[in-house]
Amino acid sequence: MKVGVIGGGPAGLTAAYELAKGGAEVQLFEASDAVGGMCRSFQLWGQTVDLGPHRFFSSDARVNRLWLEIAEFDYRMVDRFTRIYYGGKFFQYPLQPTNALANLGVIEALRCVASYGRQRILPEPAGESFESWVVRRFGRRLYEIFFRTYSEKLWGISCQDLDADFAAQRIKKLSMAEVVKNAMGLTGKKHQTLVDQFAYPLGGTGMIYERMADYIDGLGQVHLNAPVKHVTHKNQKVTGVELMSGKTVKLDHVISTMPLTLLSKGLEGVPQRVVEATKHLKFRNTILVYLRVPETDLFDDQWIYVHSPDLLVGRVTNFRNWIPELYGQSGDTILSLEYWANDEDQLWKETDQQLIERGKQEMRSTGLLGAAEIIDGHVVRVPRCYPVYARNYKSHLRVVTDYLSQFQGLDPIGRYGAFKYNNQDHSILMGRLAADNLLTARENDLWAINTDYDSYQEAATITSAGLVSAETA
Ligand SMILES: Cc1cc2nc3c(=O)[nH]c(=O)nc-3n(C[C@H](O)[C@H](O)[C@H](O)COP(=O)(O)OP(=O)(O)OC[C@H]3O[C@@H](n4cnc5c(N)ncnc54)[C@H](O)[C@@H]3O)c2cc1C
Repeated sequence: MKVGVIGGGPAGLTAAYELAKGGAEVQLFEASDAVGGMCRSFQLWGQTVDLGPHRFFSSDARVNRLWLEIAEFDYRMVDRFTRIYYGGKFFQYPLQPTNALANLGVIEALRCVASYGRQRILPEPAGESFESWVVRRFGRRLYEIFFRTYSEKLWGISCQDLDADFAAQRIKKLSMAEVVKNAMGLTGKKHQTLVDQFAYPLGGTGMIYERMADYIDGLGQVHLNAPVKHVTHKNQKVTGVELMSGKTVKLDHVISTMPLTLLSKGLEGVPQRVVEATKHLKFRNTILVYLRVPETDLFDDQWIYVHSPDLLVGRVTNFRNWIPELYGQSGDTILSLEYWANDEDQLWKETDQQLIERGKQEMRSTGLLGAAEIIDGHVVRVPRCYPVYARNYKSHLRVVTDYLSQFQGLDPIGRYGAFKYNNQDHSILMGRLAADNLLTARENDLWAINTDYDSYQEAATITSAGLVSAETA
């Protein structure tokens, strides 16, 4: 069987890696000049940086085994230190009682408790929005401080228009009791968002995917600068792909991680109702502004969430606080500032110089830089980063997925490939299971892999000594 994989991010590379290992004939087509997708690492001002913060964490033994098979022992454990910047104050995240109390003040803290208590006694009616989901669980005041502003910056829509699915997938099962228990230092199995240590590759997040690509290239083929225009088919049976260059490649099966909307619109004979449905499936873009500061000791966080509504920046990463291998002998600190925008937004159209100036001003206003200079700037634009879970998106998505499910030999997977708000571990799992279906004729339901799944058989996490099962950890 000849298998083609569209996209060299974590999902596509994992699928191709597993297929190559299993003896299948595989070719991977990547649109850009490098592998890793949103998880790629690159060299900047003599250091290794990622596209914003990339923490790898999973409790799924299948995902972790694969990650370790590739990383071997070329990783370090990082002690997470992250904070939230809001109203001119820095809140430790996960929350710590004394820090939270000092920042909120006694009166505001009591208001938060009262507002939480009110939801316990007299909950607001359940709705389908992110706002209603969070308010019912944490109370309105905590929602306003810790959830609303950041989420609205990220998604570009009101939290009332954001589907509760986002919360259900990402903060599912996180309860006030768990937040408080964690803040009191009580141990137990931690919710993913509260995990305080994670594994990080010596060569940056992208190292894992570069190694996968090297392995595949040894057995099959990895084509860079090879954007796929569309998947070809005959009577809904896949026959291959056509590249933007006009070249066609015959294939028996295609695993696609290109945007779901573009994949479906590109199929010959696509019905108008499917085209209409894709118009409701929107992606949010990211702009990363990198700043170079000739100092080594600016602040301790690996990243900071910027909730303050007066700043457009949403998150700041300090690459100097991950592992020393990233910055080597350099005497500089590299920061990356994340901004989110839609195609039509003025922000997306700003020049690099305007964005760098904006980044400099906003960083200065936080006080995080003190008197330090900023001596250089660099901008990376990442289109279609976040699948927007606008309310009712599922009904439109279903029209598209029902249509694609009729095709024989086509598996859409990945973050924008399946329109799922994946982290890298979810994309790795999708790639793994897609390959597994082909190699072993299993029928793992790839659409069913959620972005907060816990139905795996074996739980194990990565430690400095390798994989440790959940019972031992
Ligand atoms: C700022 C930021 C921070 C993040 N932080 C974390 C984190 O802390 N932890 C974590 O686990 N995850 C994080 N993520 C998410 C992580 O990057 C993604 O989950 C992961 O990269 C998804 O992998 P993927 O293979 O599904 O998609 P992608 O990484 O998007 O890969 C898709 C690939 O397909 C290629 N492609 C697209 N169209 C075509 C075409 N027509 N032809 C050929 N190739 C094509 C693209 O160029 C790309 O290389 C973060 C993402 C961002 C943007």
